[in-house]
Amino acid sequence: MTEILRVENLRKSYDGFLAVNGVSFSVAQGELKALIGPNGAGKSTCFNMLMGQLRPTSGQVFFDGENITGHKPRDIWRRGVGRTFQITGTYQSMTVIENVQMALMSHHRKIFSIAPRAWKLYRDEAFEFLRTVAMEEQADRPCSILAYGDLKRLELAIALCHRPRLLLMDEPTAGMAPSARIELMQLTADIVREQGVSVLFTEHDMDVVFAHSHHIMVLNRGELIADGNAAQVRNNPQVQEVYLGGGTLFKEDSHA
Ligand code: ADP
Ligand code: MG
Repeated sequence: MTEILRVENLRKSYDGFLAVNGVSFSVAQGELKALIGPNGAGKSTCFNMLMGQLRPTSGQVFFDGENITGHKPRDIWRRGVGRTFQITGTYQSMTVIENVQMALMSHHRKIFSIAPRAWKLYRDEAFEFLRTVAMEEQADRPCSILAYGDLKRLELAIALCHRPRLLLMDEPTAGMAPSARIELMQLTADIVREQGVSVLFTEHDMDVVFAHSHHIMVLNRGELIADGNAAQVRNNPQVQEVYLGGGTLFKEDSHA
């Protein structure tokens, strides 16, 4: 499989404390990969370095063969590394489809205009994106009245408007009910399969992780202790040690 992301020996030190300590891995095109680990393991720090929010202390990040280490978030995003943004503020008062149209205008680099004509633009295309996340029936509702899970699906549609080749999702299902979590990840898995997008995500719910990921990496105290398929990760003694007590990593694995 073609490699889309490669991370080499990534480190991040906060005043001498190594939050991420020599992490190396890769993500293939069309792969749905999970990064799991206890709170404080360094997952968000890793994500922030991949997205350009944080400059690594050392190590390198390659996207599609190009070294993007230390590049600005906007540059990384333009190259095709997408992420979901929370819909807040005035965007909340706009309708579902208007938010998608705005994203499409931005993607096609049109200057935003409140002229009625502008809203005709991209309406069909916006509907397609809403269909992808099963939100077309809610197209004309204001975002402010959406259920939390629906808002998250809309945020995913907006991220897809920019045609990312790699989507980074740090705790995409945080705050969602278990059924909505499964639904969002199922949807993400469908998108990965149908569009060949790669997704790297973090998630606490092991049901979701083991049911949907192709590969799973486990981070503990800033170091990767496992990187493999569900069976390899499940049988890794170091992983068992880290998750001992919680136990859910093994009990709820539907692919056991
Ligand atoms: P996770 O996302 O896996 O829960 P984080 O990447 O958020 O972990 O944090 C990893 C470690 O780095 C934690 O010990 C956290 O307290 C520390 N940390 C995160 N951000 C900062 C910061 N800006 N300054 C100092 N320490 C930080
Ligand atoms: Mg985190």
